[in-house]
Amino acid sequence: MKVIDHIKQATKPLISFEILPPLKGKGIQSLYNHMDPLMEFKPAFINVTYHRSEHVFKKTANGTFEKVIVRKRPGTESICASIMNKYNVDTVPHLICGGFGINETEDALINLNYLGIDNVLVLRGDAAKNETNFEPEPGGHPYAIDLLKQVTNLNAGIYLEEELKNTSKTKFCIGVAGYPEKHFEAPNMESDLQYLKQKVDAGADYVVTQMFFDNSKYFSFVDACRDIGITVPIIPGLKPIYSIKQLTLLPKVFHIDLPTALSIEIAKCKTDEDVEIVGSEWLLQQSRELYNAGVPVLHYYTLGRPKLIGDVVKELV
Ligand SMILES: Cc1cc2nc3c(=O)[nH]c(=O)nc-3n(C[C@H](O)[C@H](O)[C@H](O)COP(=O)(O)OP(=O)(O)OC[C@H]3O[C@@H](n4cnc5c(N)ncnc54)[C@H](O)[C@@H]3O)c2cc1C
Repeated sequence: MKVIDHIKQATKPLISFEILPPLKGKGIQSLYNHMDPLMEFKPAFINVTYHRSEHVFKKTANGTFEKVIVRKRPGTESICASIMNKYNVDTVPHLICGGFGINETEDALINLNYLGIDNVLVLRGDAAKNETNFEPEPGGHPYAIDLLKQVTNLNAGIYLEEELKNTSKTKFCIGVAGYPEKHFEAPNMESDLQYLKQKVDAGADYVVTQMFFDNSKYFSFVDACRDIGITVPIIPGLKPIYSIKQLTLLPKVFHIDLPTALSIEIAKCKTDEDVEIVGSEWLLQQSRELYNAGVPVLHYYTLGRPKLIGDVVKELV
């Protein structure tokens, strides 16, 4: 079932989770162990992230270095299929522009369609680890909107080989990313919002936000979106804080602010266990306020902390 139909049918805010494919070598049981405690909350859907390959330099026996391509977390599509099969839940694979040519993207979409997956979250992806700026593959998509248009084309039965006749149409529900604190490359919020509107006008069914720790940023973002005519559901993305190093890591990696009150409380903590208590209480307060405000879905980034998130969700529903 499509995410947008889950939202339309809901009478109260839904719950959803984002997971990462296991690290290569880990096996799928590690993922099931992560998910088992979360499934009792009957998530409407599960997002599965996509991780592009990285170029790394490995030392050879003779002391020189060779460039090799490594993919640390392969398997997004098959993880989605396995989760659907095991838990009978809808999945949303993330699809990125980075590392993909348009033919590979089409093949990936055809595979997802055969697997019975109704949803995709279309993203540009970040620059590869060895690049300063995002570079598309030769002939690949430079922005999420270009990937989105490939999905809407396929939904209309338009494949890359134009001579194909009587084609089958896919029916993907399409999500896109939005940034309550602005995407870090955007010169200003107005320009970022205009590009978001272009994605919605081109066919995005809903928006999922980057994590934020101050709900007022989400509410202002939603207001700003509505002011420029973005009417689709805007799903808040929520992440728990559970370690001291996140205080500097999250702003650095995700280009977001931590509210002063939260950073003061974390700074008082002596251990990560102390931080987890503060982070859990903060997440609960954030979740309660958003739930009471009637957001469409509470979408949790679960990486490494299914129990913490389960404890928070238990308090809500
Ligand atoms: C909910 C969520 C899930 C994510 N999941 C993943 C994942 O699984 N894998 C992964 O690798 N990354 C993931 N990311 C990270 C994401 O790929 C990066 O934030 C990336 O830098 C931007 O992706 P986007 O889809 O927002 O890009 P875009 O919408 O293409 O925007 C990128 C930048 O370009 C600007 N822009 C947009 N369109 C145009 C245009 N036509 N012309 C000029 N400028 C334009 C925007 O303002 C923005 O600054 C996720 C992010 C979010 C919020």
